[in-house]
This record gives sequence, C-alpha cells and structure tokens, in this order.
Amino acid sequence: MWVYDPDTLRFLIVNDAARDLYGYSDDAYGRMTVLDIRPKKERERMRDAVQHRTDVEKEQRWTHLKANGQTFEVLTYGREIRFEGRPAILAIVQDRTEVNAARRQVTDTQSLLDSIVDNLPVGVFVKDMERDGLYILFNEACGVIVGHPAKDVLGKTDRAIFSPEQTALFRAQDERAFKSASTISFEETIEREDDFPRILRTAKRALPAPEGQPPRYLLGISQDVTEERDVEAKLAHLAMHDSLTGLPNRAFFSESIVRQVARATAAEPIALLYIDVDHFKHINDSKGHAAGDALLRQVAQRLLRLAEKNDLVARLGGDEFALVLKMTDADRAQRFADLLLLSLASPFDLDGVREHVTCSIGIALAPDHADDADVLMRDADLALYAAKESGRSTYRFYQTEMRLEAERRHQLTIELREALQNDEFELYYQPIIRLDTDGLSGFEALVRWRHPERGLILPMEFISVAEETGMIVPIGEWVFREACRTAAQWPGHLKIAINLSVYQFRHANLLATIVSVLDETGLCPGRLEIEITESVLLSEVAQSLCLLRALKELGIRIAIDDFGTGYSSLSYLRSFAFDKIKLDRSFVAGIEADPGNLAIVRAVVGIASGFNAVTLAEGIETAEQLAKLRAEGYDEVQGYLLGRPMPRAEAETRILREAGIGTMSAKQKAPRKAIRRHAC
Ligand code: C2E
Ligand code: MG
Ligand code: MG
Repeated sequence: MWVYDPDTLRFLIVNDAARDLYGYSDDAYGRMTVLDIRPKKERERMRDAVQHRTDVEKEQRWTHLKANGQTFEVLTYGREIRFEGRPAILAIVQDRTEVNAARRQVTDTQSLLDSIVDNLPVGVFVKDMERDGLYILFNEACGVIVGHPAKDVLGKTDRAIFSPEQTALFRAQDERAFKSASTISFEETIEREDDFPRILRTAKRALPAPEGQPPRYLLGISQDVTEERDVEAKLAHLAMHDSLTGLPNRAFFSESIVRQVARATAAEPIALLYIDVDHFKHINDSKGHAAGDALLRQVAQRLLRLAEKNDLVARLGGDEFALVLKMTDADRAQRFADLLLLSLASPFDLDGVREHVTCSIGIALAPDHADDADVLMRDADLALYAAKESGRSTYRFYQTEMRLEAERRHQLTIELREALQNDEFELYYQPIIRLDTDGLSGFEALVRWRHPERGLILPMEFISVAEETGMIVPIGEWVFREACRTAAQWPGHLKIAINLSVYQFRHANLLATIVSVLDETGLCPGRLEIEITESVLLSEVAQSLCLLRALKELGIRIAIDDFGTGYSSLSYLRSFAFDKIKLDRSFVAGIEADPGNLAIVRAVVGIASGFNAVTLAEGIETAEQLAKLRAEGYDEVQGYLLGRPMPRAEAETRILREAGIGTMSAKQKAPRKAIRRHAC
C-alpha cells in the first residue's frame, strides 16, 4: 500500500510490503513518482487515470516495474483520502503473479485435457440429459466412428444426426445406463452415410453429480470393434471350416452329428455318408498337390450341388468327405449315392488336364442302424471299408455282418501277433519252370499260417489284415529270412522268389533288413527275386524307385507280380527296368475260350521283350494252357499243373528228383549234402 499526491504523483508514504515487493529504498521512494514504478508504455494511461480518477474506487489491472527492472502484473484499488490535511490517493496493490500463474495453469490443464480427449483413440462423448441428451462433448474419434464430425454433432441431439430407429435405440440405452449405478456396455451396428456400417461397442454411465444433486450428464466411451469382430468371426469360421474347400470341417461335423443323431427319429431319419476319393494319393503324388487340391475343391462343389439346403456337407480331412442327409423318403440315401457316382463319372479339369476319379461311399442310417453318433460314425466307416473292399467306385449300406467282420479282423490281429511269437508261420514253395529246358528255375515262397485250432490258413485270409495293422513287417521279415536260409541250401542255379507287399516296401528298414539277411544266410543276391505288385508304384513313386534301384544294384532281381490287375498305367515300366513280368493268372484262366485274354497274353510278351524282361505266366492248370503259353513264347510258367505250393521237404525232394537222385531212398542215402551247392 502506498499513498501518493494526485497533483505531483509523488509517493507520500509506502508500507513495508510494498517496499519489499518493489525493492526500492526509502530514499528512492522519496524521489520517485508513481509513474516510475511503471514501464514507459503504461505511464500515459496512469496520468490519464489519475486525472480522471478512473482508478479510484475501482479495481484496475496494471503492469508494474520493480527496482531490478522486472515487470509484473498487479491489481490496484484506489481511494481518495486526506493525508496530512491534503487530498491524497491511497493505492492498494495486489501482486497478481501467482494468481496469473495459477490461472494460466488452469487454462493449460484445460487445453491439455481437451487435447487428450480429442486425441484418444476411443470415442468419448457427454450428453446433457436435462436437455434431451444434447451433446456437450464429442471427440474426434467419435466423429470418425459415426461418420459425423464433432462440429456437426455438438449442441445437437441424436435425432438430428441418426435415423429414427438408431435414435430410439440410443435413447433406450441412455435411459438404462443413466438409471443404473454402474457402467453398461452396448454393441450394435450403425449404418453410415458412406455405406460402411461399423460395429460400435459403447460403455455408458451417468457422471457422478456433486453431493446431494441428481446426475445430469451421461458419459459414453465408444470403440469401433468392426475389425475385431471380423477377425473373431473369421477365426470362428476358420476353426470350424476347411480352408481348401470352405466346407465345414471335422470339428464342425463332430458337433453337428451328435445333435442330428439325437434328434433323428423313425419318422425323420437321417443318413450319414462317408465318401472317400479312390486312389487320391496317387493323383496327389503323380499330378502334384495343386492338382490334388483342385480335385478336392471340385469334388466339394459336386457334393454341394447334389445336396439340399438342410443337408450337411463336410470335409473330414484328406480325401474324406461326410454328408448328413435328411431322409425325406426311404430311398434318398441310395438315390443320392447313385447320383454322386454318376456326377463324379464326368471328368475333372485339373489345370487343363482331364482326370477321371471315382469314390467309395459308406452309408449308415439313424436311428435305424444306430441311435448314437459314435456308433453311427463307426457303422458308416465299416460300410465305407466294405465299399472299398468290393472294388471301390461303389457304395455300401451298413450291415451287421460288417461289424462281425471287423471284430473278426480285430481278433485276427491279436492272433497274428501271437502266431509270430509262437512260430506258427510256415513257408510253402511253388516250383517255377523254365520253358526252354522244362527244368526248375526256382521256387516262389508263399507263406502259410498253421493255426493251432483252425489248421492251415492261406495268405488271402490274413495278409490284408497284417498289412492294415503293420504286422506284415515282422511277418515279412520272418518270411524273408526263412526263404533265404532255405534257398541258400539249394543248388546255385535255383532262384527263390519272395513276395513283398507295398507296406513292407514303405518300411524304412527294408533295405537294411534285406542286406543283413543276405549276409547272414550267405545267399547270392543274384538268386533272389523280389516280387512286387504295381501298387508299389502307385504312391511315393520317387521313393519306391529309389529303393528298387538300390535293390537292383545289390544284384537282386525285381519282378512285377499279378501283372495286368493293378493300376492301369504302363508308364512305370519305363521308369524302372524290371527283370521279370508275371502275368496274372486271371488272363491265363480264360485263354482257351476268350480271344481277348489271348490278345493280352500275347501283348505282354511284346511289352516284356521291349524292356528285355523275362515273362512268366502264373496259374497254369491245364496242358492246353501250357501249350498255348509255350506257343506264345513265354520264358517261364508256374501253376498247379506244374506243382502246387508245397512244404520245404517236398520242394527239396523235387530238387533231388530233378538232379537225378529223386527217390526217397536216394534222399535218405544222400541227404541234404547231395543238393547242397555253393549258396552263391
Ligand atoms: P501271388 O504272389 O500271386 O502268388 C501266387 C498265388 O497263386 C498263390 O496263392 C498260389 O497258391 C496261387 N496259385 C499258384 N498256381 C495256381 C494255379 O494254378 N491256380 C490257382 N487257382 N492258383 C494258383 P497263395 O499262396 O494263396 O498266395 C496268395 C497271395 O498272397 C500271393 O499271390 C501273394 O500276393 C500273397 N503272399 C503269399 N505269401 C506272401 C508273403 O510271404 N508276403 C507277402 N507280402 N505276400 C504273400
Ligand atoms: Mg507272387
Ligand atoms: Mg501273382
């Protein structure tokens, strides 16, 4: 505070606070006027104010000057008084520095908050519920989400911005959230003018009001969850669908079939069809995976075309499809299967190449065959198996016998394992005759199972089960060792032919096993002939060829067995130089009557000579057949006429007989030794 003279503007008295604030000494004050504590630009205004008394009885803002030259803001209040008998003015001065700083901070904070709210990646809005939900805050993110900029929304209600339906929905939400004590979240799709509807998730709640007052404002936080929901939907679809064909996958099917079987009744039955593309693996391997994929997609399309709206078409994996049909009439499943086989009969276009495929179908009905999904699936599987067994490209309905057959096979598997442990397998040897000398070329080893109760069992009855279960590998190894050990005892010109199934062929250790057996038995590899069927070359061709070449390099001879019955592609003959072609006995059987068979028999000689392979005809049963094959120029023959498969002792008697020592007594006189020559 100070008092000054309005005429001279000189200070008359200054209090301590003023002295401290401005920093002038008492002496200085004695010489100064009130103009001196102001920067020059303010002095004129001061003179004017004093003259007109505008700073009297009124607050005024000024910039003042301290002794150290620093300016600062003040608020002054003037009052006319009398001082020492003369008119004077009392000035009360308040330093505004701190107040201003505080105020500046408030506005800074305000703009900081505004900026935060505007830059939040989520939409934030506040509605005044006392004014019909008028928007009093609406940040930029909100504008982006709903497609209306903040300036168009602020000061308006939903009605002015959104459709009547949308407005009604928002109003209902607002009222619910406003009444509730907690935050409530809503999610809905909002249509936008740009035709890109967005999915909006909004949490709404009433802003707490000061003590004792009812709430007035509604706070909303909105997020655009369109992409999130899209990804979720895609993931859910992905988890339940097959990406190649777009069909429901196994997971989807498994869930659905349980529900459908539970609902199926005698009045509304369903059919489950399992569909398997025949020889798909071959197409995949030989034509490439892209062709395989294209084929599966086209099969899926054909299935979909035949199915009706309420049917389920699913891909279970690989080349397996499943269909659940509503049996609108008793024959629907059969009709569908017929149509499907027909539909698949037209060729597929695999990248410009026409390919013919077939499929096998197994059908089971609910509740007819099963009222439980697991049982129904097993039944359809058994029916599919039966369809494949009966030559593929066909369908089979489930029958109880199939289950009995499956149980029998299961039992057989257990027994096979025991048979191996109990040494119940035996080898029979069937003579192979060369037609140039009519002498023995060697023997084919054929496995037999001497079952303790059922007697001698032929390979037909157990080889396929052994192949399915992998038991063929240890059984095959036993056959190999036994046959080589036996043949090693025979005269060196006699060969031994051993059958190898495709399953053994795939077994990684095959080569090592063969080498070690040859080693331990001392059999010359040149005397060993391995018989494989064309199926070995049906899949994993490169790997199979590699193994065949390795075997051939060892000096082992390779024969194609059952020639003419396998997959009808002759191209593999070019990729590997087979040593022998064994014409299947089915062609020999009809040779007398059927000129077609004779044509094939003749053609095979032609093919074999082109590849420099030995020809052998299997299954010679009559002298007439033998004469015909001789006339056609076959190198070797094999069949009941020339000798049935026989136990080792009998085979060795025959060897002795051919060697001219062929009587029992001779054999007794000169046992084994007489026939033993160098193994190699
Ligand atoms: P395969 O290799 O074609 O063997 C010839 C089959 O034809 C033998 O049947 C033989 O007994 C029979 N056979 C021979 N001559 C005649 C004939 O004049 N008329 C008739 N009707 N049949 C004749 P088997 O011994 O029952 O063997 C059947 C098949 O089982 C064999 O066909 C072969 O594929 C497989 N097999 C046999 N032993 C083994 C083995 O040790 N391992 C593997 N993997 N398969 C084997
Ligand atoms: Mg054979
Ligand atoms: Mg054969």
